Amino acid sequence: MTKQTTASDRARLPLTAWAEDVQRLQLPMPAFGGVNSWIIGPPGRQAIIDNGLPGPETAAVWDAVLAEKACSGLDAVLLTHMHIDHVGQTAKLIARTVPLYMSVCEHADLTQLSEMRPSARQDAEMAFLKSGGHPPPNGPSSRDYGVLAPIPRTFVPLETGAEILLGGIAFEIMLGGGHSSAAVCLICRDRKLIIAGDQILSGSGPQIAVWPHRPDADPLEHYFDFLDRLEALPDDLAVLPGHGSPILDFKAQVARIRNGHLARLDRLRSAIEAAASCADLIPLVFPGGIPSQLHNRVPYLVRPLVNYLANRGYLRPQLDDTGILRFEPVAR
Ligand SMILES: [Zn+2]
Repeated sequence: MTKQTTASDRARLPLTAWAEDVQRLQLPMPAFGGVNSWIIGPPGRQAIIDNGLPGPETAAVWDAVLAEKACSGLDAVLLTHMHIDHVGQTAKLIARTVPLYMSVCEHADLTQLSEMRPSARQDAEMAFLKSGGHPPPNGPSSRDYGVLAPIPRTFVPLETGAEILLGGIAFEIMLGGGHSSAAVCLICRDRKLIIAGDQILSGSGPQIAVWPHRPDADPLEHYFDFLDRLEALPDDLAVLPGHGSPILDFKAQVARIRNGHLARLDRLRSAIEAAASCADLIPLVFPGGIPSQLHNRVPYLVRPLVNYLANRGYLRPQLDDTGILRFEPVAR
């Protein structure tokens, strides 16, 4: 006999409705207060956007959601970006031949990271930290993407300007960099919403970081470009983010995020008077102290600011005799 699903069964699920056909599923991620999956469309024709960390705790939530038919008739699994807290249950969810949607760059990055040998990853981390003047890591500084391998080779590529129907709702696609290479944002002007993944978050916004194997990247440039392109969108969109509650003051939050980055860049530019390593600059980037959940991430968050200034001619990198990269101010 199959178990009947009752309203009280469903009430126990960590689901909240933004609209009848747009639901937020809060999945476990203690350090960041959870990670959101968005379930789009009416029962029998639904799409899942992002799906949480790998591992049994998140898998158990999905088992309950599927068993209690809170998500049914799944016809698309979409990943806004390749970070492990958004893609961890993909294999489970697409197992019943559900098509996977993501951007080409995010797929390539996810595949590369999942296939990287742990020793190569650790070597890249050690080299990155040493050149920044940071101490060796106190435990792993990033999660092991190897648990996600093999990444499905087949997916539907998403491109800026294309339209996609998810759960019967038409969305416009906009790709943006900064937090990752080319994350997907989904815009529905009729419904006045943008499903933004981690590209727009509350507080100071998403982490803009480099990977240890790509230390010279300039993610802040890509993020500013993304923020600029948001200006062309209507002011009254609700932002449905990858972490936290919906953001109802879209453009004000975009301005706060932009101003935060500009203030940090200004602080660095005006305070660097002599050659400094990235480790030397940490107090300038975090004048109020480092939030506990960011401790292992700090080296990866400082470097993008320095790269941004170096690429614009304000700082010049020089490798010293001990293998530490120091950035000296350029007279202008
Ligand atoms: Zn992310």
